Amino acid sequence: MYLIEVYVTNASLNVNRPFTYRSDMPIRKYCRVKVLFHKAINYGIVSGCTYTDKNVDQLNKEAGYEMQPIIDLIDDEPVISDELFELAFWLSKTTISPLISCLNSMLPKTLKTSMEQKGPKTVRKIRKINDVYDLTKKQKEVLDQIYDGMLAADARKISVSIIRKLLDMKAIEEYYEEAEFENKEIDQTAFKELTQEQKNAYDSVIGTDKMVSLLFGVTGSGKTEVYLHLARHYLSLNKEVLILVPEISLTPQMIERVKERFNDVIFYHSELSDQERYEQYKRVKEGEVKIVVGTRSSIFLPFHDLGLIIVDEEHDHSYKQDNVPCYHVRNVAFRRAISHKAKVLLASATPSLDSYTHALKGDYQLLELKNRINLSFPKIEFIDLNEQLKKRGSYIISKPLKSELEKCLNEKKQAIILLNRRGYSPIVKCSECSSVLMCSDCDTPLNYHKDEKLLKCHQCGRVYKMPDRCPKCGNKTLLFYGFGTKKVEEDLEALFPEAKIERMDRDSVSRKGAHEAILKRFERHEIDILIGTQMIAKGLDYPDVTLVGILNADAGLMHQDYNSAKMTFDLLMQASGRSGRAESTGKVLIQAFNTDHYALKAVMNQDYTYFYNIEMNYRHKASYPPYSHIIEVVLSDMNKERIIRSAELLYQKISKLSFRSYKPFELGRQKKQYRYRILLMDRDLLSMLKQMQEIIHQYISEKNMSRVKIDVDPLYLE
Ligand SMILES: [Zn+2]
Ligand SMILES: [Zn+2]
Repeated sequence: MYLIEVYVTNASLNVNRPFTYRSDMPIRKYCRVKVLFHKAINYGIVSGCTYTDKNVDQLNKEAGYEMQPIIDLIDDEPVISDELFELAFWLSKTTISPLISCLNSMLPKTLKTSMEQKGPKTVRKIRKINDVYDLTKKQKEVLDQIYDGMLAADARKISVSIIRKLLDMKAIEEYYEEAEFENKEIDQTAFKELTQEQKNAYDSVIGTDKMVSLLFGVTGSGKTEVYLHLARHYLSLNKEVLILVPEISLTPQMIERVKERFNDVIFYHSELSDQERYEQYKRVKEGEVKIVVGTRSSIFLPFHDLGLIIVDEEHDHSYKQDNVPCYHVRNVAFRRAISHKAKVLLASATPSLDSYTHALKGDYQLLELKNRINLSFPKIEFIDLNEQLKKRGSYIISKPLKSELEKCLNEKKQAIILLNRRGYSPIVKCSECSSVLMCSDCDTPLNYHKDEKLLKCHQCGRVYKMPDRCPKCGNKTLLFYGFGTKKVEEDLEALFPEAKIERMDRDSVSRKGAHEAILKRFERHEIDILIGTQMIAKGLDYPDVTLVGILNADAGLMHQDYNSAKMTFDLLMQASGRSGRAESTGKVLIQAFNTDHYALKAVMNQDYTYFYNIEMNYRHKASYPPYSHIIEVVLSDMNKERIIRSAELLYQKISKLSFRSYKPFELGRQKKQYRYRILLMDRDLLSMLKQMQEIIHQYISEKNMSRVKIDVDPLYLE
């Protein structure tokens, strides 16, 4: 008889330990099994197996309960390695979250502990084969939406009958997924020679004894070229290389360049299907690929011998996971680098305060790229919106911005307009009783989306019909306040009817592949003015862009969050870096009300250090990160009485600790849930984690309490 230790799939913290089952056969560690848990079928992962001479009766007697058998074994082979299982443990401790949710965050969907599926099936895909000319309009429309490698199932969602027809006509064909690797020769000449500055950075990463280097390089300084040379070096030592990027669809040019230089590179991100993710995971596990470019979750791939982990745009917020476990990829990268004796290269034009502070202290090696390759810095100007309003000018597209746009279009150049708010109008208000239309599930005003004539809640996604009168008083005049990207598009179209204008935000790119399509059109200069939210600020490098306009640049500063100045600074720096990427000097116009704010002044002078010094001074006075660590506890519940009781009980325990703590604070309702937040802060993270672990454990064992979510070192507060 064998005793099998199993972590069952149950998200609550009070079962954050293995349970013992019996089996006639030994079972390998880290295989998934089917078991009974609390009399229901459950799945879990095996963490240990020991032999015993005892029979079932003896075991039951010793345990004091009836020991259950393993019902079924799902895998023949372990789904995870020792290193990654240990990593899950560490993750569980440092984020105060259940081990099983850490494991499930790390594995591709088909290998998650809750899945019974053995091996994933092969998938059918579609590609275009022949140009067929006598298509009907409908058929042509459908064909336009099809791209090579599209899942056959997705294509059928457009129209089953037309897809069938197109297959008959041999315009498209179906095929089964096959290995995507072409064994092309690497074109070594594609590697550009490094400038002296780049070469110094390259040599220093390889030469240093320090595990972590921070590459602080202005936008356009050629950081990517340094990554590629470093990758080549570590691959030549037969080691693996991971390049982390914030969002894959927003970094098409980086992807192109990596593809150009390396064979056997894979891209691992959330836009892949479950099947594709599983296959890429397997390729890494079987040692078939040595270089991966991916988003956050690729830090958990089953590497064998990592040489280098690069974190591009290391300050980016997408590196922090919002849901449990709320981990930051940087911390996981350090942990993996220790296990693999690998190096970590953090890179940014606006490093996180935390990383830069570590670099100044000498914990990390600080490397700087101060020059833009072949380019000058863009000229930056502020437009004070107060002045514009006094002159009764528009505060959406101000006069100076309008004339710069005219100039840009006359010179056949391109412009980018950034506004970090989608939709048409963020507030709809009654002219009579002044009531604002709100989401009935959240304490959030509804956004008007003119395209669809709908009201949308940006918090929970709920959609409402636009009413023709005020729901409170019946008055017929509803007014729109504020503006979003859609309204800007409308205004620009009226101002420049000849120009080709497009919009890129979450509404316009909801379909898979839409990002790339817009960016491709922009690259081919089929778009003159591109309007968008923060997604257009990232990594784009187009030589014809000579003008960047930033609207409502200081809107982010209104949020009363400890991190909002840094977030605003990052966004504006990144956006202004999009201008003048080639020989023509670029211009950046920034429209704001509060042009005196130090975050904006720092952008004006493109001066990170200026911003850093002032911001750190504020942080120091308030003991905010990086001078302390924060643990944020958020309770949520539909039941108001229960949440108040729960918050009080939890705070009672927390306030007894020796850390600075803040009383339960009521947050706005979200998806019908009442929410309360409790904060604690201290320099000593380890001791906070240890004591909180205990408190949360006690809290969860109490009956009838509200749901709790913990975020260690949140990037912004709920
Ligand atoms: Zn009204
Ligand atoms: Zn809502």
